[in-house]
This record gives sequence, C-alpha cells and structure tokens, in this order.
Amino acid sequence: MTVTELVSYEDALASYDPVMGLEVHVELGTKTKMFCGCSTELGAEANSQTCPTCLGLPGSLPVVNAIGVESAIKIGLALHCEIAEWCRFARKNYFYPDMPKNFQTSQYDEPIAFNGYLDVQLEDGEVFRVEIERAHMEEDTGKSTHVGGATGRIHGAQHSLLDYNRAGIPLIEIVTKPIEGAGERAPEVAKAYVAELRELIKALGVSEARMEMGQMRCDVNLSLMPKGSETFGTRSETKNVNSLRSVERAARFEIQRHAAVLSSGGTVVQETRHFHEEDGSTTAGRIKDNAEDYRYFPEPDLVPVAPAREWVEELRKGLPELPRVRRNRLREDWGVSQHDMQSILNAGAVDLIVATIEAGADSAAARKWWMGELARRANEAGTELAELAITPAQVARVCALVAEGALNDKLARQVIEGVLAGEGEPDAVVEKRGLAVVSDDSALGAAVDEAIAANAAIADKIRAGKVAAAGALVGAVMKATRGQADAARVRELILERLGVEG
Ligand code: ADP
Ligand code: MG
Ligand code: ZN
Repeated sequence: MTVTELVSYEDALASYDPVMGLEVHVELGTKTKMFCGCSTELGAEANSQTCPTCLGLPGSLPVVNAIGVESAIKIGLALHCEIAEWCRFARKNYFYPDMPKNFQTSQYDEPIAFNGYLDVQLEDGEVFRVEIERAHMEEDTGKSTHVGGATGRIHGAQHSLLDYNRAGIPLIEIVTKPIEGAGERAPEVAKAYVAELRELIKALGVSEARMEMGQMRCDVNLSLMPKGSETFGTRSETKNVNSLRSVERAARFEIQRHAAVLSSGGTVVQETRHFHEEDGSTTAGRIKDNAEDYRYFPEPDLVPVAPAREWVEELRKGLPELPRVRRNRLREDWGVSQHDMQSILNAGAVDLIVATIEAGADSAAARKWWMGELARRANEAGTELAELAITPAQVARVCALVAEGALNDKLARQVIEGVLAGEGEPDAVVEKRGLAVVSDDSALGAAVDEAIAANAAIADKIRAGKVAAAGALVGAVMKATRGQADAARVRELILERLGVEG
C-alpha cells in the first residue's frame, strides 16, 4: 500500500466539496430472530441458539417475524418515509463462512420504507436535513473468531471459530441519499445524523442501539467533487464504524485522503475501507462488488409483505414525540443553552433528568446532580450515567433533603456515595452515617463559642465592623462539626454573639 501524504483539512475543503452517504445497520431488539423462532439473547453458549432455518439446512423454511416488520414500519414512519403497500425479500448471494445460507435474506429494489428525511441539529443549533433513500429489512450474519494470530484478524490465524447465534437476528438498514452541501461541516453532519438516528431508534423502543455493542453500526461513503462541479466523484466506503466520534473522524480522514489522491492527479478506487480507532486512519479493504455480483433475486420461500394501511396508520398514531422536538421542548422548559443541552445529551442524561424531575426534584437541582457529582463518578468508574447504582427517584430524594435544609451539598455527596455503595435508600444512608445537618442552636452554640474563643483576633475585627471576616469563623465551625452544621445559621449565631448586624 502506498501511504499518501494527507492534504490539510482546510486545503481539501478549499478545493473540493464532499458528498457523503451513510448506511446504518440497526439490530432490532426482538425476542426471536427474523425468520425463525431462535432466541436473540446475547451471551449464550456459541451455536446454542440455532435451528435448521438459521443454519440454512436443506428443506428448512423461513417465516417472517411480525415484530420485525412492525419495527421497520415504525422506523420508516419516524423518518417520514413512504411505506410500501407491497414489498418482497430478496436473496443477496455471496460466500462468507459466517453466513451459513450463502445468501443474506435482504430487500433489494422493493424496500419496506423509502423517500424520507431526518432533520439533525448541529452543535450551534442549525438544522440540517438529511434525506433518506430507503430503510429495509434484512438479517445479521454469524460471528467469526480467528484464533492463534497476533491481531485477531484472519491473516496469521491458525484456525477460525464460527458462532451462528447472531445469524438471522433482524437488522434494519437505513440508507441516506447523497448528502451534499454540508461543506466543511460534513463530518459534523455525519456524526449528528447518527446521533439523532440513535436517539430516534431508542425513543421508538425498537432497539437499544448501543454502538459499542455493535447494535448500531455505520458505513461512511464519501467522495469529493472539485468545487463548481456537479458530477459526483468515486466513493470509498468505510465499513462498520461503531462510535459517534469515529463516524466524524472517518469522514474527516477520507476527505483529506481523497483530496490528496485527487490533487496529485490520481484516481480514487471504489473500495471498502477499515477504520482504525488508534489513529483515526482508514486502510483499503476489498474492491467493491457491483450489485450484479450479488445476483439478487426475489426470495421464493417467503410471501410478500403487504402491510394493511389501517395498521400503518395505527402505528403512525402511536409514534412518540421526535427526540429533537422533545429536546427543544425540554431545553426551553429548563432554560438551558443549546450548548448545555448538547452536553446533557452527550452524557446520556436527558431521560435521567426528566425522571428525576418527575420524581419531584426541581429541574436545576436534578441537572446539577446528574451533570456534576454523578457524571464525575460515572467518569471515574468508566461507566455510563444510566449504569450507576442510583435511581432518579433516589436522586430526587437527595434533592428534596437538600431543599428542606436537612442536607447541605457536602452531606448530600456523602449520601450519594452511600447509595452507590449499596447502603440503601438515601434516608437509610443519612440515618446510618449520621449525616443530618445540625441547625439546632443548642448543638451549634458550643461550637460557635469555641470558634470565637480560638480566633480572638478575627472576632475583634468582626466586632469592629468587618463582617466579611465572619467567613473564617463559619469555616472553623464547619470543620469542627465535620461539615454537618447549617452554615447560614452558624453565621447568624456568630454575628449575634459578637453583637453585630448581619
Ligand atoms: P452499496 O450497497 O454499494 O453500499 P448503497 O446504494 O446501498 O450501495 O449505498 C451507497 C451510499 O452511498 C448511499 O447512501 C448513497 O447515497 C451514497 N452514495 C452514492 N454515490 C455516492 C458518491 N459518489 N459519493 C458519496 N456517496 C455516495
Ligand atoms: Mg453499502
Ligand atoms: Zn433459528
């Protein structure tokens, strides 16, 4: 392979306009596979969830999973697509060891949903419309594990293991029309599109769409045309990019690489490429097959899918509020900036904050705890906010205890620590750890007197009118009470004792 010197991003964009096409595969969360009754549960022993149909044994017959079709229609509707009145499955023929039938049951020229769009919001709030070409139903392949080599890749391996548990799990493939006009923001658009699609899929409840688990993956097609030209260039297709950040980086890298090839007088090869997380680069995969090479033909063993219009309309009525619309509504309710809302979204905190508010917390407090202390702890533990061992109801209870003055922030952090450590509900932690704020004057009085006696010079200053110096005495009392004193009351008591007005 010849390593091409990349052109800088700015130079690339000065001479060329990028065109992108994004193909996203989503694994549906159905209980059973797309064409048989085998379980889709993850983590089972290899090949324990297979049957003659998903192993492609002679004489076996597939049957379509109705929930799979329903999910496809929901996705199509949420993407403003037309839903086919009648469509078929097709066989996409190719040989690959992890595909036991030697063809993938997919859809070709008759997808269930087509001609839609998804509006995506960029970081600065601008909305960019991505047009959808189609969303079609297909099935996943099995999984190969290459053993004995250094890299886990097939090259250098001694043997390969095949697990067909994943073979036949329903997939929806969503393909955009060529995305033009994004210019230098093309990588940002790609990332925002995948992020928005992921939110949408989750809101529809058809998949958890966890990219890190391969439940959602994106192929990034990219080409450049010289500025002013309207003819698309040759595209590369970077396969199976599996994080939002990687989608953005892959697009950016390909823009720079294509520009380098083109500006040195070379031609871009139509090929698939692999993305490398370590340095954000891509390397050549295989030369791209043409559709003819797959010898597509209609699947003879499955009846056509002809969803009744009443059913489609019923599904349309049941669609949830679109994530972008909901986000904008929440952003206004909460009075936060576009940027802050983006951080909340990126942290996966939107639903947690909503649930905390529903459990009675004030919105500012709910945001503060999830985006502050809890985000810090999730970060430390290397997990997602949603994985933390604390529920929105428990966070709401902590907020309530702070609001009624029973806890200050410092104590509240200890309560959260206790809940996360499995010590029980917030009230139980308060009780066990003895964490209540002390605001009772008789309990505080002694500590206040001691602080005054131990800091006579400061006390004199306050008596002489330098009220600001009271902070030092409040600090001393807080220290003596291990942070449990009600700081506002302590300050009042100090000023009272010293005979000055607050
Ligand atoms: P394939 O099966 O070969 O991947 P698809 O039609 O399924 O082909 O997907 C190709 C994707 O690339 C689509 O999103 C399409 O809009 C986009 N695309 C097509 N031509 C170009 C091009 N010249 N440059 C960038 N993207 C393109
Ligand atoms: Mg493709
Ligand atoms: Zn099966």
